[in-house]
Amino acid sequence: MNKEQSNQKKRQNNSPPKNSQNPARRTNRGAAIRAQKRASDDAHRIASQYLTAEGNGNKNQDKSARPRANFIDDSPKLKFVGLGGMNGGGSKNTLLIEYKNDAIIMDCGSDLGVDLPGINYGIADTAYLESIKHKLKAYVITHGHLDHIGGLPHILPKYPAPVYGSRFTIGRVEEIFENFGLPMPEGFELKTVIMNEDTHERLKIGEFFVELVRVTHSIPGSTCIVVDTPVGRVINTGDFRLDPNPLDHERTDVERLKELGREGVLLLLSESTTSDRPGRTPSESTIEQSFVDIMDQAPGRIFVAIFSTNVNRIQMIVNAAVKHNRKIALDGRSMISTLEMAVRNGFMKIPKGTFVPIASVSKYKDNEVVVVCTGGQGEPNSALQRMSLGEHKYIKLKGQDTVILSSTPIPYTGNDALVRTMVDNLFKDDVHVFRHETREVDKIGPLHVSGHASMEEYGDMIDMIKPKFFIPIYGDYTGKKYHIELAVEHGIPRKNCLNIDNGDVVSL
Ligand SMILES: [Zn+2]
Repeated sequence: MNKEQSNQKKRQNNSPPKNSQNPARRTNRGAAIRAQKRASDDAHRIASQYLTAEGNGNKNQDKSARPRANFIDDSPKLKFVGLGGMNGGGSKNTLLIEYKNDAIIMDCGSDLGVDLPGINYGIADTAYLESIKHKLKAYVITHGHLDHIGGLPHILPKYPAPVYGSRFTIGRVEEIFENFGLPMPEGFELKTVIMNEDTHERLKIGEFFVELVRVTHSIPGSTCIVVDTPVGRVINTGDFRLDPNPLDHERTDVERLKELGREGVLLLLSESTTSDRPGRTPSESTIEQSFVDIMDQAPGRIFVAIFSTNVNRIQMIVNAAVKHNRKIALDGRSMISTLEMAVRNGFMKIPKGTFVPIASVSKYKDNEVVVVCTGGQGEPNSALQRMSLGEHKYIKLKGQDTVILSSTPIPYTGNDALVRTMVDNLFKDDVHVFRHETREVDKIGPLHVSGHASMEEYGDMIDMIKPKFFIPIYGDYTGKKYHIELAVEHGIPRKNCLNIDNGDVVSL
């Protein structure tokens, strides 16, 4: 911890450039000697910290028992490195923990917000993995969103190890490998291990014991990762909220989290997506009635644009459509692929004859159809965006059609401008458009709730886990800064909270 704090101070003084402590980077002899000296100084500081902690602050401790100035602590350390996910709003989330000859990667995501010509997305820098690839024992995944699994098809074949996750998460991993489109290296085989997030099973992976704990988010099968290491317990929350009434009734397992906290936790890694949003996130169940209200009133076809992975909300829309005697057509490649996987794995229940192909929508009366599609972020070439431009093969929008955007633009990505342009085009077609942002004007809503916690819930997580050290993850510097202030308010000493960057190494 101290090593990192000293490095952080240096960065604030504008001396070494970002990621200067990337262990894979080459350096000259002078710098190497200076680094060696720093490392031994740091080792001493870390050792004194631990000796003090074990002495329970006993001021009368025998002076001879204190570490001597030239004491070098070469005891094995737990190393934590955020390869990705420590800036940029929590994208390409990829964390590494390493102890002696074992290492595991937690999440392995992609970055969907790269704004460079010819580049669709980015992945974490894996230079450090090259030097420790012989140690890598597993990839453990919190949930199946692309910013947590999208890097796997690129990184896993190069640094192979089994992928662990909940049943739905592994379904998503298999899905993205099936749809990857590029050939895998010869001899590569995707190995997966499904873990039960409800039974608290613990699997031994190298020197670590790993457990998944269920949390609520906006995709089924979301989990915290608990890693028991020889140095202490590490918990990665993954993306979460504490919804008291989620649509699938699968609440965050707060009882287990409290139990883990009581047993003692060395380090909490907690996601920071919306750690500056006050209060609590409303329950997903609050939007159910809005969809029923719209279906009661809509005179023609209904189009709902939604993330394909928001399976529980899609199930809710399916239920409302069935009640209103409407057929459902799916559109968008990811929508069809993810829902196929969800149905196959038992995460959705669809009455027979409910789904109809998008090509046959015109055979039904307008008030008998709901189209669930991609494009809620205005993404170019998504189903709704093509419809808004009149470029869709099967759908021509017309007056009396209703479009619902059941999401809000992802902040800091430029998607708000894309959505605005798409909504312009929808209105030009005389379509009724309902957005969550305009719910008060439209008097219909809410149409979306966030999949992430708000400040009170982030605080509850810290209270339940009561960690010794706290590192906010999956956010930008500002979001993580707010999260640290919250942690301090909830009793974590400021010196035990770290706002680290991608590539920074923390030793425990
Ligand atoms: Zn997520």
